[in-house]
Amino acid sequence: MSTVSPPGTPAPGQLTFVAPRRAKPARHLADLTMAERRAVVAELGEKPFRADQLSRHYFEKLNGDPELMTDLPAAAREKFAAALFPKLLTSVREMTTDGGTTRKTLWRLFDGALVESVLMRYTDRTTMCVSSQAGCGMNCPFCATGQAGLTRNMTTAEIVEQVVAGARALAAGEVPGGPGRVSNVVFMGMGEPLANYKAVIGAVRRMVEPSPDGLGISARGVTVSTVGLVPAIGKLAAEGLPVTLALSLHAPDDELRDTLVPINTRWKVAEVLDAAWNYAATTKRRVSIEYALIKDINDQEWRADLLGKLIKNKLVHVNLIPLNPTPGSKWTASRPEDERAFVRRLEFHGVPVTVRDTRGREIDGACGQLAAAE
Ligand code: SAH
Repeated sequence: MSTVSPPGTPAPGQLTFVAPRRAKPARHLADLTMAERRAVVAELGEKPFRADQLSRHYFEKLNGDPELMTDLPAAAREKFAAALFPKLLTSVREMTTDGGTTRKTLWRLFDGALVESVLMRYTDRTTMCVSSQAGCGMNCPFCATGQAGLTRNMTTAEIVEQVVAGARALAAGEVPGGPGRVSNVVFMGMGEPLANYKAVIGAVRRMVEPSPDGLGISARGVTVSTVGLVPAIGKLAAEGLPVTLALSLHAPDDELRDTLVPINTRWKVAEVLDAAWNYAATTKRRVSIEYALIKDINDQEWRADLLGKLIKNKLVHVNLIPLNPTPGSKWTASRPEDERAFVRRLEFHGVPVTVRDTRGREIDGACGQLAAAE
């Protein structure tokens, strides 16, 4: 098998916007709108209603193998398998923790590129954390994914297949807690979703559209997380998809954010916050500000105070993430007392704040730890 090797470590602060050109995986049903599926089915000489049937098999029954679709004529099954159901993801390794309710999967894509997804089952919901790129070009120094650079963009179907795989495991009762469904999807795996805009929007549409078009997950349960690509945030606001926007801010001042989130050298804190308020105004959705607390780097009380002043009285919520360790990084999570002081300071400004209960640290499956190494 031919394999795609990662591009190598980028220089500090170096940004990669354009993914290397690579061969694309074969077209999959999940890449297509309903109208496009009907057109493909017609090209194959079959009745358009077969598109509806295939879609229900895939999005409702989570069946991606036409051989098992026994309500289709045998001859047609083979044609559909070749034209619409290529194998896109191959599971290389599964790791579980939290008694099996947190489960990370390492996937090999058709060209050998590696990505990871994480399923997290809670009492009241199950969240799939998906990757949107193999690697990432945004080069945030505290994130393991960023250290390896950008290998390539993923396609819509490669993104959707991660959710379908999780849904299948849940439906089959493989995850402790009895048979279940995916209620939430977060684009917080590998990659910068807004740097792969078209494929990500396609994937979001497949996730939220009801069957037979898609999986029928509530748009409110879908979160797109970004370093802050300002023009793309504007585009997302105009899509009419009420998904939650998470903004990885990590510092309230340009001086520090320039180094923690290198995209800040393009779009400053004030610009990215404006884009976030515009998003909130357009979608009526509360924006989530992500802030990894890094000991003695961004966790000072004065920074909490500055952050509070910048975002108070907005439709916003702050999600503090105790920094997860990554290989080769000298940074660690904040002291508990500094974390508490940071929370208090934000609350003083009336800003809603929670500290994320990060899952999967034991299996390198927590935020910023996905490096997809075999
Ligand atoms: N590129 C997107 C989505 C992927 S990262 C983004 O940056 O938003 C998902 C979240 O994990 C982001 O908020 C990211 O900043 C955060 N993160 C990255 N590395 C981390 C680490 N080592 N510890 C805690 N959070 C981290």
